[in-house]
Amino acid sequence: MERLGERNRPGFGYHLKVHTFRTLTAVLAWALVVAAFYQKPELLTSAQRLMQRGIEAVGGAVALLSPVDAVTLGSDRHVVHVAGEAPMELAARVVVNAAGLWAPDVASRMQGLAADEVPRAFFAKGNYFSLRGRAPFSRLVYPVPDPGGLGVHLTLDLAGQGRFGPDVEWIAPRSADDIDYRVDAGRVHSFYAAIRSYWPAVADGALAPAYSGVRPKLGSAQQASADFVMRGPAEHGIAGLVNLFGIESPGVTACLAIADEVSAMLAR
Ligand SMILES: Cc1cc2nc3c(=O)[nH]c(=O)nc-3n(C[C@H](O)[C@H](O)[C@H](O)COP(=O)(O)OP(=O)(O)OC[C@H]3O[C@@H](n4cnc5c(N)ncnc54)[C@H](O)[C@@H]3O)c2cc1C
Repeated sequence: MERLGERNRPGFGYHLKVHTFRTLTAVLAWALVVAAFYQKPELLTSAQRLMQRGIEAVGGAVALLSPVDAVTLGSDRHVVHVAGEAPMELAARVVVNAAGLWAPDVASRMQGLAADEVPRAFFAKGNYFSLRGRAPFSRLVYPVPDPGGLGVHLTLDLAGQGRFGPDVEWIAPRSADDIDYRVDAGRVHSFYAAIRSYWPAVADGALAPAYSGVRPKLGSAQQASADFVMRGPAEHGIAGLVNLFGIESPGVTACLAIADEVSAMLAR
């Protein structure tokens, strides 16, 4: 197996572009916050377009609605089979599987990857309820974590609106289309109980269903929480392949550090 050696390491020009892109991303993130605060969807769209241009400026391309169906792993090139409206085959020296909830599913479609490299996927939905009226807190409130989650904590948006969540609801979807993101209003009782452990005065009727998300888990409800799993050439022996499993919270906060680690795994 050929590894990425000194010859393949990116030079100064590449690093300059990448760091410029990172700085631009931080500026854009602030632009997004301002756009969201002033409820300007057109600013959000422009910021997303600028982000796409930034990716393209460092040699990337953004392909939406292009699901990866399978990957044929090779010794120096991998072939990515893409389905969707414009099916294609893409030869790639490096493949990073960052498919979130479906990363184990994508890994299971990699011909040439040992079966024991594919973890079993579990899914934990996290529901949020919003607070009617103003929250009496000026800071986030985090209780002691629950098994599978951080506990029903309070977050505040830029307008000071309070939102409680996420709880932990184990689900077993067969595909992305099989996930019901609606918040079950009946779960509100467990929210009042959890919130009253640190805010006994919260009034009945103060909470309304808000939104939900789903965490990619590597352990079931009965198992201890598992950390992120990053498997690169040193682990599975296949050059130019990194699989990222169980990237749940704080995956966004940690994304730049994860990207650095992925680059290092590929360069080792
Ligand atoms: C309720 C909740 C609250 C959270 N709060 C926080 C927080 O406060 N702070 C924080 O840092 N993180 C938080 N997270 C975690 C954060 O959202 C994730 O860690 C992060 O989104 C993971 O990023 P990712 O790129 O690995 O995966 P994702 O963001 O899930 O992206 C994966 C992408 O791969 C695509 N994909 C899947 N299958 C295929 C395929 N076959 N072909 C092509 N594309 C495919 C998907 O469509 C998706 O676009 C939270 C998560 C949840 C659910």
